[in-house]
Amino acid sequence: MNILVINCGSSSAKFQLFDIDNGKVLAKGNAERIGIGNSKLTYNPDGGKAIVIEQDMPDHKVAVKMILDALVNPEYGVIASVDEIAAVGHRVLHAGKYYSESVIVNDDVKRVIRECFPLGPLHNPANLIGIEACESVLPAGTPQVAVFDTAFHQTMPPKAFMYALPYEYYEKYDIRRYGFHGTSHRYVSKRTAEFLGKDPKDLKIITCHLGNGSSFAAVDGGKCVDTSMGLTPLAGICMGTRTGDIDPAIVPFIMNKEGLTPDEMDTLLNKKSGVMGISGVSSDFRDLAKAANEGNERAQLALDMFAYQGKKIIGSFAAAMGGVDVIVFTAGIGENTDTMRAAMCKDLEFLGVEIDDEINTGLRGKEAIISKASSKVTVCVIPTNEELAIAQETEALVR
Ligand code: ADP
Repeated sequence: MNILVINCGSSSAKFQLFDIDNGKVLAKGNAERIGIGNSKLTYNPDGGKAIVIEQDMPDHKVAVKMILDALVNPEYGVIASVDEIAAVGHRVLHAGKYYSESVIVNDDVKRVIRECFPLGPLHNPANLIGIEACESVLPAGTPQVAVFDTAFHQTMPPKAFMYALPYEYYEKYDIRRYGFHGTSHRYVSKRTAEFLGKDPKDLKIITCHLGNGSSFAAVDGGKCVDTSMGLTPLAGICMGTRTGDIDPAIVPFIMNKEGLTPDEMDTLLNKKSGVMGISGVSSDFRDLAKAANEGNERAQLALDMFAYQGKKIIGSFAAAMGGVDVIVFTAGIGENTDTMRAAMCKDLEFLGVEIDDEINTGLRGKEAIISKASSKVTVCVIPTNEELAIAQETEALVR
């Protein structure tokens, strides 16, 4: 069964076509600069050469049509006809309080995605456009599945998801913690249990998704009970360019001092802060490590803050669950940076965490246990694969 996975941004559409029965990616790529001129489609067929097609893409419908044309192209295509696409899985940011699982798209699902525009103003409109573009271009009846970033976290209890604001704002505007990266946290926590040969029901797992955006989830018995991101992905640990948790009083303080509008303040918090803002060097952890090695103190400070804040979240989630059996690292930093994994676990010996430096050092991008045999808490690296997870959830629904 072939499943097309689509992740639409406001001016882009990333895609992967999976042959799910054989666990193969047949082709993947990215349509960029949709609707803003100089648009191009990068298309990578499995085993073939990457092709760049420069052509005007005034909207997402044209972009989806170009992606499908590339997939069936007689010269470099990977399928004979679009009829061979059994279903499309769409990454959708926000389902608000409405869905805790992936769903087959119908009018009601589209209404929910639209209703959540205020909660995901940059992503949800683009995600819906992507769904409607596929509906209009693919053969009628091809199922579209929405896989939500927020869904996995819907099992959190109110004491974890409520903010101590006047209750009316929860009632009026649905202001609460939702959490993100849910597809990754679900996939990685499930895969961790499989990898360890355990039943997820018997495990208290802390998943640490450390990438450009970073978030943690406390997964007790297979269900998310807390997560570090909030109403938006700005909350939790400091990130590439996002502040993470700060004293909320800082926001009006800086706005008053600098005369910033709400939008300007939002940009400062989301795009100019985090390890980029602290170091002044880069949001990329490879650049930070290099600068720190060369003696740049602010780059080192940014790395230290990231490790320290991560450790505090791990400790708080262990407390929230009344213990922890497994800590698992994933995403760009979690999978590739041995020093950050070690730094985040440092001083957690009191919890029963003992990293095996020999195994951890140099380990990149593969499944492994990086704790000592004597460690009470098992520490793992499990690479995430959000696209594959979306394809698997889509397949499960349409079968
Ligand atoms: P995104 O949230 O955009 O999916 P990623 O999961 O790709 O982000 O993570 C990006 C971060 O991971 C960057 O800070 C980058 O430095 C780091 N990273 C990615 N690959 C490597 C690598 N091979 N070695 C060290 N760090 C890496």
